[in-house]
Amino acid sequence: ISASANSPSSSDEIIENVVIIGSGPAGYTAAIYAARANLKPVVFEGYQMGGVPGGQLMTTTEVENFPGFPEGITGPDLMERMRKQAERWGAELYPEDVESLSVKTAPFTVQSSERKVKCHSIIYATGATAKRLRLPREEEFWSRGISACAICDGASPLFKGQVLAVVGGGDTATEEALYLTKYARHVHLLVRRDQLRASKAMQDRVINNPNITVHYNTETVDVLSNTKGQMSGILLRRVDTGEETELEAKGLFYGIGHSPNSQLLEGQVELDSSGYVLVREGTSNTSVEGVFAAGDVQDHEWRQAVTAAGSGCMAALSAERYLTSNN
Ligand code: FAD
Repeated sequence: ISASANSPSSSDEIIENVVIIGSGPAGYTAAIYAARANLKPVVFEGYQMGGVPGGQLMTTTEVENFPGFPEGITGPDLMERMRKQAERWGAELYPEDVESLSVKTAPFTVQSSERKVKCHSIIYATGATAKRLRLPREEEFWSRGISACAICDGASPLFKGQVLAVVGGGDTATEEALYLTKYARHVHLLVRRDQLRASKAMQDRVINNPNITVHYNTETVDVLSNTKGQMSGILLRRVDTGEETELEAKGLFYGIGHSPNSQLLEGQVELDSSGYVLVREGTSNTSVEGVFAAGDVQDHEWRQAVTAAGSGCMAALSAERYLTSNN
């Protein structure tokens, strides 16, 4: 294993030092560090978002909490800067999804729609995806009334000035509800339990906001439409009495959490019960030597751009050490 150049195998097949999967803050930060360590990383950026690399922040507007940008920066601008920085140091970027990988024996194999790559180490940084409720009419109204991203869609003409609803009782849902009050006429927060799970500070902000009504013990059953086929309301059911009611609303936002994109590692690397990649505490090390995880795919708690970037840095430095010690 060479830490300074990609090494040929006995059959002269190239074996890359490190393959990075994902192009969010974790993947690009790992790419910057690995490239600067002269590991010539190969990055599979992913194609899920219509071929747009950059991960979740591509779906947002202003990012106000990433250090170094006192006036804030848009998500796409921030990600484009990270991408350029990785490229500038020599990371090889492929805009493809990885379709399968094998880490059972070394060297590992990574297969995309376009190519098969062998490598000595992998940094897995595939992020997480917002969960859906799977309502009967969800597909029909997805992006036409139902959304999983208040920050992306709240200001759109479809929702501006309308009565909207958010499902969920945790930090995501309360944040979405508060965010939507900037644009909506009124926001209903639909909570299955008899209390909110969000932090005390968020609970107080929601409860004290006259533009938000919290509905406890309330299950979201389906969306309703008018004669023009537009979303007009939501069918609700009381969890305690079973009573069904209709709520007038032009939009429904999901704030019910995320699923880690860890499918490719299932059965090969240890995952927790929710599917998050398990890393040894304080490290990026997974249960397989040479396989490292970074960002939201291994983090059910913080899920921030800066924590994802930090763990991408850790993963790259760990991969470098691993490659050096196995040289
Ligand atoms: P992601 O950003 O999710 O990126 C994962 C990448 O992996 C994607 O590029 C995806 O295409 C790729 N991928 C997935 N599967 C494959 C595959 N099979 N093959 C190849 N590639 C694959 N955080 C903040 O700190 N501040 C904010 O203001 C903020 N605002 C947000 C607003 C919104 C609307 C959202 C959704 C999130 C926001 N976050 C914010 C959270 C932040 O975006 C995430 O914590 C961060 O993006 C996680 O980075 P990541 O690199 O782990 O994963």
